[in-house]
Amino acid sequence: MAEITEFDTIAAISTPIGEGAISIVRLSGDQAVAIANKVTRNIDLTKVASHTINYAHVIDPQTQQDIDEVMVSVMLAPKTFTREDIVEINTHGGIMATNSVLQTLLSNGARLAEPGEFTKRAFLNGRIDLTQAESVMDIIRAKTDKARQQALNQLDGSLAHLIRNLRQQILEVLAQVEVNIDYPEYDTEQMTINLLQEKAQQISQKITDLIKTASEGQILNHGLKTAIIGKPNVGKSSLLNALSHQQRAIVTDVAGTTRDVIEQMANINGIPLQLVDTAGIHATEDKVEQLGVDRSLQALENADLVLMLLDGSRHLDDQDVKLLQLTQNKKRIIIINKMDLPQVLSRQQLTGEINKEQPIAISALGQQGIDQIEQQIEQLFFAGVPTNTNTAVVTNARQLGLLNQAQQALTDVQTGIQQQMPIDLVQIDMTNCWNLLGEITGESAPDELITELFSQFCLGK
Ligand code: GDP
Repeated sequence: MAEITEFDTIAAISTPIGEGAISIVRLSGDQAVAIANKVTRNIDLTKVASHTINYAHVIDPQTQQDIDEVMVSVMLAPKTFTREDIVEINTHGGIMATNSVLQTLLSNGARLAEPGEFTKRAFLNGRIDLTQAESVMDIIRAKTDKARQQALNQLDGSLAHLIRNLRQQILEVLAQVEVNIDYPEYDTEQMTINLLQEKAQQISQKITDLIKTASEGQILNHGLKTAIIGKPNVGKSSLLNALSHQQRAIVTDVAGTTRDVIEQMANINGIPLQLVDTAGIHATEDKVEQLGVDRSLQALENADLVLMLLDGSRHLDDQDVKLLQLTQNKKRIIIINKMDLPQVLSRQQLTGEINKEQPIAISALGQQGIDQIEQQIEQLFFAGVPTNTNTAVVTNARQLGLLNQAQQALTDVQTGIQQQMPIDLVQIDMTNCWNLLGEITGESAPDELITELFSQFCLGK
């Protein structure tokens, strides 16, 4: 995959569509400079030095009419994002100018790029591996600085580096097994079996360590799914607002008005929280609210974390107790809201309903105690371990799934050895592990996967 493959020249708008100071239309492929040159006047782009930005006018070559006044960056292969020639045209921002420039390029030999096609070329031309391509997507989507740092670290190839190292070790063992099969006189079978066993164990341990990073990686990447649960009027919307530091949920004092599930992102010391504010979970005749209740139960089921809200200014009632029971097997934080009002909720009664949890008293309205919730969240999920953005981390379900399969293949190797299976059968499981690890970096990834993965990108990336 190291050599550069020839493709047609693609073009797309790489900046968000809308009004802004500038927009960028990007071209990649061996005709990029020629096509850009055809649609510009007053400059010969084929003669400018690589990695320079040049003043020009985009014109319609048929009518010679000016389309926009632009700056054109010319970057010649191989030192570019795609390893192909790249031309980036900085147009005036705005839908008309940008689209007209793109259309002109498309009428003069370029093809409209598919979503993610630039990054796909970077992959196909061997500049990045699949984990790095995924991290490009993660950087674009990062919701907090910590998430961005982690993605940036992966872009550096730290996960791929580790995976390649493991694959190399497997390859060496497999070579050893081959020697044993082909030239039994050079090696004793027992030595090969011992080696296989030992390596399977070692690599399995490394994979286990990697799998352990997945929850942190996925949390940083996708956010911690957090459900705010409590009876109507307890202050769920107010807490959502307090945590996300902005007004989004509609707060009213009529019980049961948070009719739908509202989602919001919050940034807790770098950990993105995907907050779900739910209608109070209670039996209701109201159709609209019933829908909200169903969705709340679902939100609760999917939640990584539950913020269980109680009202300090009211007595603990059946609804509270029911919700406490419903959430008792979840990672949860019990919060007593409305601490600014006279407190009537009996702590003693509450203690009877919960395990050893320490409730946190807050005032969502007065923004008091919110820091304590934030600290508690950090402790629950990253207890003692500072979130580490410098090492290889598994960041998505695809990588995790493959690691689990690779782990299984190694277990099969070990079982095979214990059951004294023929060595060439054990070898198949080891080879399988090597292939599965290769799928993570894309070295042995099937075409459909590659197409599917890159189609998740945005246009122009
Ligand atoms: P939800 O139904 O659980 O979403 O509750 P809301 O967030 O809509 O709040 C219900 C009512 O309680 C509103 O009138 C809020 O202003 C009020 N409220 C929420 N939090 C507090 C608080 O900490 N102190 C006081 N005094 N009132 C609060």
